[in-house]
Amino acid sequence: MKPATLDHRSDVLQNSVVVFSNNYLPMSRVNIRRAVTLLVSGRAEPLELETNLFWQLRSPSVTIEVPHHIRLRVSTAERLWKVPPVSRRELLRRDGHKCQYCGAGKALTIDHVIPRSRGGGHTWDNVVIACERCNGKKGDKYLNETGLALKTKPKAPMHPAVAFAESFWQNRPMPE
Ligand SMILES: [Zn+2]
Repeated sequence: MKPATLDHRSDVLQNSVVVFSNNYLPMSRVNIRRAVTLLVSGRAEPLELETNLFWQLRSPSVTIEVPHHIRLRVSTAERLWKVPPVSRRELLRRDGHKCQYCGAGKALTIDHVIPRSRGGGHTWDNVVIACERCNGKKGDKYLNETGLALKTKPKAPMHPAVAFAESFWQNRPMPE
């Protein structure tokens, strides 16, 4: 069972497999080739959810069934992850490079929801990306004095694995 013998033209290879950690936390997606490597080397095993779904890889001599979900057999020492300090780069990423008041994607600045002059902190739950126009409109006022409204409530970025796990379960179709 060598992945190298697989049909390279197969569209199946375009698909991906969800990798669960040893303690059943969905962690990431890998391509089929990587999944096969993990399975063949014994570092992962098929994970059975409510349905048993497989991608079928065919070559002239062999057919391999690759489960849609695999689980690592070894526990991955969860790397230490700390909430990053507030920075323009992280903030742009969190807010999707969009003004959190009007959705504009240009002339972006950092706005303190509770103005610093009124005691607001430079913390994840008090900073948002805002375009110059909205930031100017807001100035040193509280939100309720401006007529502006936030699209989302600002919060600290999540651990990447936790964020993946959340979206995995949220986007999962209900079992039939
Ligand atoms: Zn704006």
